[in-house]
Amino acid sequence: MAPPLPPPTDSTPLLHGEFGSYPAHGPRFALTLMPQALHIQRLRPKPEARPRGGLVPLAEVSGCCTLRSCSPSDSAAYLSIYTYPRGRRGGRRRATRTFRADGAATYEENRAEAQRWATALTCLLRGLPLPGDREITPELLPRAPRLLLFVNPFGGRGLAWQWCKNHVLPMISEAGLSFNLIHTERQNHARELVQGLSLREWDGIVTLSGDGLLYEVLNGLLDRPDWEEAMKMPVGILPCGSGNALAGAVNQHGGFEQALGLDLLLNCSLLLCHSGRRPLDLLSVTLASGTRCFSFLAVAWGFVSDVDIQSERFRALGSARFTLGTVLGLATLHTYHGRFSYLPADVESASPGPNPGLPRAKSELTLAPGPAPPLAHSPLHRSVSDLPLPLPQYPLVSPGSPEPLPILSLNGGGPEVAGEWGGAGDAPLSPDPLLPSPPREALSPMAKGPPEMLTSSGFPPPTLDVPVANSTCGPPDHLLPPLGSPLPPGWVTLEGDFVLILAISPSHLGADMVAVPHARFDDGLVHLCWVRSGVSRATLLRIFLAMERGSHFDVGCPQMGYAAARAFRLEPLTPRGVLTVDGEQVEYGPLQAQIHPGLGTLLTGPPGEPTREP
Ligand code: ADP
Ligand code: MG
Repeated sequence: MAPPLPPPTDSTPLLHGEFGSYPAHGPRFALTLMPQALHIQRLRPKPEARPRGGLVPLAEVSGCCTLRSCSPSDSAAYLSIYTYPRGRRGGRRRATRTFRADGAATYEENRAEAQRWATALTCLLRGLPLPGDREITPELLPRAPRLLLFVNPFGGRGLAWQWCKNHVLPMISEAGLSFNLIHTERQNHARELVQGLSLREWDGIVTLSGDGLLYEVLNGLLDRPDWEEAMKMPVGILPCGSGNALAGAVNQHGGFEQALGLDLLLNCSLLLCHSGRRPLDLLSVTLASGTRCFSFLAVAWGFVSDVDIQSERFRALGSARFTLGTVLGLATLHTYHGRFSYLPADVESASPGPNPGLPRAKSELTLAPGPAPPLAHSPLHRSVSDLPLPLPQYPLVSPGSPEPLPILSLNGGGPEVAGEWGGAGDAPLSPDPLLPSPPREALSPMAKGPPEMLTSSGFPPPTLDVPVANSTCGPPDHLLPPLGSPLPPGWVTLEGDFVLILAISPSHLGADMVAVPHARFDDGLVHLCWVRSGVSRATLLRIFLAMERGSHFDVGCPQMGYAAARAFRLEPLTPRGVLTVDGEQVEYGPLQAQIHPGLGTLLTGPPGEPTREP
């Protein structure tokens, strides 16, 4: 077998051909498939002077399928491409483009041509190499990746299920991904379920909620005796919560403009359809009681954790809860006395050992973050479709057409690509995902709709001062001495009054809060940010407003500090306060943490340059 083609450049034409449209008497087009885009040029009635919608970025394509006409006399085959372009107001709208392969005399030949295009397009979407020598046929595509989706019906404004049903499921069905869906019924439900999961049944676990549900899933995987194997399971996040920080970072990594709400969800769903993954750094956090948990997002003390927990009562506002909380928090600004120590990233990691004096920082480090490292391209995740759920039937109608349209069947029974990929309605359900340990009833079939609790009780109040469930497995923290023992040489200690201390792994603290613009999922760093007392309310507000663009380091606030670290210890010396790990409140008291580079695997979609949107 000859090697695959060398990687094509962005403008390399991979396929070129002439197609008609649906209905048949419509215009004719020349299509050119390139690695990053599909170029559509109208040939007849006449070439457009200024073609509109002529270049479809593949970043906006969820998937495609082939169809045939129900009319036996129609020898053409059809290729439907599902796109999500942005409308005039910026929001994405679904648009299907259907093309007619009619260059050959027989249906079989036309079908082979439509399948060739659909296969090539799917390979591009999924990062699969196109063969150099062989015909492009559906057999090139491996089986569909199987995703386990967890939906928290209470996430954010309680729209998770509605958004899932109306937007996510149709899109991932178009992409030909196979999935099972579970409604979480209570806090820690997802955590328990992943502990009993048969890992080989799944290619990824995706949460539809805020950051809290993914936190549960990751900690559940790390609770398993086989945690090393379990951590290879890619996890993904589809933002349906009020705190969607990781999704904000995924969105930025994918090259999309900052987005909120449904726009962010559609962007992240598109990225999920395209596959692609990155290692995800996780922070192992040890609390005063000895309890250990794993954080993918942030440990916060002071202003940030106060706002997060106090704004719980405004969760009906969605992400706006943090804006309101920030304004209210400014009115009652507190300072907290504490000691904050860290192992700077550029210090060779010394094993912790007995150390007499507590090293103190000579002068406080208030470094401006360095330039962002170049984005590394990761290989894309291989995938195909053996869709278990019916694709929504979108009527193919042309309002202006006087003649009755032939009805197209979606891979319907005919020898189309249904069996291998492309989204058939009658493919079998994925196998039962769970081992016997969690009861079978724990699975809510996706047709069932949200649990009744949704309309009745609203969201349960946040549990205060409840320690997070202990993670007994997971890698050892080789950089940390026991909490309470002196720190090894090379650590820096700051002591004083703080307005906030934040230790964050990814770039985003919220979907529109770029706390550390240069942070990467796998930079092996925990980014420490703090603001000391003495800051004015006006400056603090400026910092949080500037965070939307990630320009808060330019505010020039002398009380603000930053350091890149591999481990830290936080010792609150003020008797009362709120500590959060990934937005969830944990026991108050000293804690310490170390970063575990690339311990998790995150479904991110392919990396994109910020220019990928037209
Ligand atoms: P949000 O960003 O809206 O807070 P999260 O994903 O952070 O969304 O979820 C909030 C909390 O809800 C998490 O602690 C999660 O464990 C919990 N949770 C998940 N499913 C349920 C459920 N069915 N009922 C109550 N709480 C739940
Ligand atoms: Mg949350």
